Amino acid sequence: MRKNDPNLRAVRLFRSFCPSYFPMIVVRSVFGRLSPYFNLYLSAAIVNEIAGARDENKLITLVLITVLGNFLIAVLGAVIGRISGHKDTVFSQREAEYYNRKTLTLDYENLESTEVRQLRRKIVESSRINYHGKQLLLMSVSSLIDNTVNVCFDLFLGIEMFVVVFRSGHDLYNILFIGLLAALVAFNVWYTFESKKMIGTMSQNISQTMIDENRIDEAIDCYNMGKDVRLYRQDKLVMKIKRYALDIHKKAFRLMGKKRYTTNIPLTVSNILLQAVIYIFVCVYARLGVFGIGSIIKYVGFVGIIISCITSYFNVFSDIRYNTPFVEDYLAYFDIPQKMYEGTEHVERRSDNGYCVEFRNVSFKYPGSEDYALRHVNMRFTVGERLAVVGMNGSGKTTFIKLMCRLYDPTEGEILLNGVDIRSYNYDEYLALFSVVFQDYKLFSFSLAENVAARADYDAERVTEALRQSGFDERLESMPYGINTALYKDFDKNGVEVSGGEAQKIALARALYKDAPFVILDEPTAALDPLAEYEIYSRFSEIVGDKAVVYISHRLSSCRFCDRIAVFDKGQIVQCGTYSELLADDCGMYSKLWNAQAQYYQE
Ligand code: ADP
Repeated sequence: MRKNDPNLRAVRLFRSFCPSYFPMIVVRSVFGRLSPYFNLYLSAAIVNEIAGARDENKLITLVLITVLGNFLIAVLGAVIGRISGHKDTVFSQREAEYYNRKTLTLDYENLESTEVRQLRRKIVESSRINYHGKQLLLMSVSSLIDNTVNVCFDLFLGIEMFVVVFRSGHDLYNILFIGLLAALVAFNVWYTFESKKMIGTMSQNISQTMIDENRIDEAIDCYNMGKDVRLYRQDKLVMKIKRYALDIHKKAFRLMGKKRYTTNIPLTVSNILLQAVIYIFVCVYARLGVFGIGSIIKYVGFVGIIISCITSYFNVFSDIRYNTPFVEDYLAYFDIPQKMYEGTEHVERRSDNGYCVEFRNVSFKYPGSEDYALRHVNMRFTVGERLAVVGMNGSGKTTFIKLMCRLYDPTEGEILLNGVDIRSYNYDEYLALFSVVFQDYKLFSFSLAENVAARADYDAERVTEALRQSGFDERLESMPYGINTALYKDFDKNGVEVSGGEAQKIALARALYKDAPFVILDEPTAALDPLAEYEIYSRFSEIVGDKAVVYISHRLSSCRFCDRIAVFDKGQIVQCGTYSELLADDCGMYSKLWNAQAQYYQE
């Protein structure tokens, strides 16, 4: 195996999750095997004694050793079982944590990317459906350990048997015995590899059909889609697609079953022949007086086990080989670079909140897109200011905010915080400067307090205060467990459903609780009427005091109170000034939009 072989890399990674995980498998395996070998040896000794000298004292001693030995092995086995069960849990938890942490800290650009989403789906689904990837590798390692332990145990028996057999002087029998064993084992090994090759490609196809099928199940299961499914009678469409996917899947499975059945026949025949050869020769040797009757049990058992070990070794190696691309996928996910986290400089902690963000000739294209979403944007913005960003839908307002919060890096130009490129800063420290309420904000099905504080350890008083400031206090009074009430019913049957307007207030409270120097509202109020939006925006301005606030809206009237208004059009800032300055410019974009919107508000 190469040094950077993916399987070795994955095993090293697993070891870092729980260093005692693999040693524990060795211990478990040794104990698992101890009992049959112990019994094999002692049964042979007892039968040999009965068939031979029949010494009563020796027989009683042998029986006592067997009983006590089995008792001891059972007790130790139970203790080891408990410890190894605990190690399994620790390992699974740490592995899941490692995987989830990666997903939660992926660069946003990658989180959105179709390739990364497909890779993640492939990893999860192939492990769930066929145990491919990390699971099969773990099973294979465990199998290798088991086999090696078996072989070690068998080595004594094997050496003992072959020494006896070769010393017997029956050369013709010896050559025939070894020759037949070697030929049948060689066939088994070769055939195992060949059949894996055939089955391997088929099971990959099945994984794909199941991935498609599960995707449809998700659509059926997701209760957010329930309304649309009912109103548009999409049930028939979904069922049709599901039936189609099921048909493909059924065909693939039937084909695979047939193939498995036919490929297994030669292997089964060869195994029966092997057993027959072993029985015949061991019996012949016993008949020739090479060893006692009791040893038949011992040696038949030994040869059977050693042969199943050899076949299993090759089975495991071919599993590892066909599983390697899945392990590569698994590792590729962890190898996705996190360039957002490359910056190391600390963000200056300023008690006066003296922060200034500057866009310098910033242009931006979304990954995979040919068009610029922002072009040559120049803007300086300091804490204490109220900035409005207005423009038609699709003009680049949200993109401007996403860049400011460093969800993406500019394609051209740079963004500076107090004169330093924001890429140089520690990512977490930089993000801590912003409280944003996006238009498509999301609340979790956790408690109200956890949603507001965005953490499990929160300050209850501050949570309540933030909810009061955002105007949620009246609704809070009617919540059965106050701020500890769960939102939605996904995890808690006492959870409450909140209306769109109430959810917006909770999202605003979350921004207030964070208490960051820059607060950005990206049209979270789009569902409200213009007057209500104006009221919330201007009230918010009073609440946040001397922080910097960016208000985004496609409604010009909502941002009249702001110090400055930047007008976006086709990714560019086409105008920037105070409300009266912009309105005074009759030919400007702002005036045009204002007049176009004004007619909707006239009675
Ligand atoms: P606004 O907030 O003004 O409505 P956006 O900033 O959301 O506009 O969008 C600006 C442009 O970028 C639009 O043409 C939009 O289609 C495109 N866009 C937005 N998000 C993405 C994305 N994730 N991937 C590709 N293009 C996007």
